[in-house]
Amino acid sequence: MPSPRRPSDIATPLLAWYDRHHRVLPWRAPPGAPPMEPYRVWLSEVMLQQTTVPAVVPYFDKFLRRWPRVEDLAAAPVEDVMEAWAGLGYYARARNLHKCAQAVASKLGGRFPDTEEGLLELPGIGAYTAAAIAAIAFNRPAAVMDGNIERVIARLFAIETPLPQAKPELRERVKGITPQQRPGDFAQAMMDLGATVCTPKSPNCLICPLAAMCKARKAGIAQALPRKATKVGRPVRHTLAFLLERDDGAVLLRRRPPQGLLGGMLEVPSAPWRETPWQNGEALKHAPTDCDWQPMPGETEHVFTHFALKIAAVHGRISAREAAKLDGLWQQPREAALPTVMKKMLRLLPQEAAAKSTKSRRAAPARS
Ligand code: SF4
Repeated sequence: MPSPRRPSDIATPLLAWYDRHHRVLPWRAPPGAPPMEPYRVWLSEVMLQQTTVPAVVPYFDKFLRRWPRVEDLAAAPVEDVMEAWAGLGYYARARNLHKCAQAVASKLGGRFPDTEEGLLELPGIGAYTAAAIAAIAFNRPAAVMDGNIERVIARLFAIETPLPQAKPELRERVKGITPQQRPGDFAQAMMDLGATVCTPKSPNCLICPLAAMCKARKAGIAQALPRKATKVGRPVRHTLAFLLERDDGAVLLRRRPPQGLLGGMLEVPSAPWRETPWQNGEALKHAPTDCDWQPMPGETEHVFTHFALKIAAVHGRISAREAAKLDGLWQQPREAALPTVMKKMLRLLPQEAAAKSTKSRRAAPARS
């Protein structure tokens, strides 16, 4: 078959494939059925930015149970929303999610705009999310392009320009093949094809409904696409975490300032995150209190988008009376709703480290 000329050349076989092989997801209507309510589509699309489907499902269910309508989410304290989001990463999204819910509830009577232009006016909704909501919730023929779709398009048209420079060209191609009929299903079919068949490392061209018109398959370069511009190394920062325990095992946490990285989330107190490693004792001037700080063995690391954070830790213990004099919150380590980087810090606590080493000793015979 020649390369595709009309949207239906791709849409027809793709939608037929989607009707049989679509993924069943809690925010998704079955193929051909009326769309889910925009609140669900919006919530899932915001959660899915930079995050995988399996990671999002439990958060999506939790948010809907707790805040079944956009008005409920708008009325919730932002701290509750941030805590429910803890672990999903990219916390500015949670803050914008709340702002967006408030805008929809207070200015738009609880109804999401049904066009890309209208959606783009809302906090936290960028070009991709606006197109996805317009297509999936309102059946508009918007050109939706997430990471999965980028890959499928780069292969289908054998686009060799590396990402991110290739994005405008990829978007034009998506526009050219998006059908007027069932555009929401079409966008979701492209996503599913990328996630289950045209996968990053091993595209399964043998079962692909678009194989006959795929230029990269024909040229034998499918696996090599999309090409990516060479990345420069990620900078490294260093900190020292202060694991301060009260005598009942609760640990000291603080709330971060509302703006900036992890804005508004709970944190373990730590020395400033800087480019040079902290020397022994040097970081203690940033400790939340004076006590007998003991260095903890080992280190942990957390990778953010723009840098990696190397974390060493010291541990201290104080009485309930001394604890009451300090600013912050005291929570049991396993009960606190924390971002992943903070959970990693708490895993350096002596009892957590001991539990980990006992577990790995117990597991050792099974490996031999
Ligand atoms: Fe991807 Fe292969 Fe299908 Fe082309 S034929 S779209 S490379 S799975």
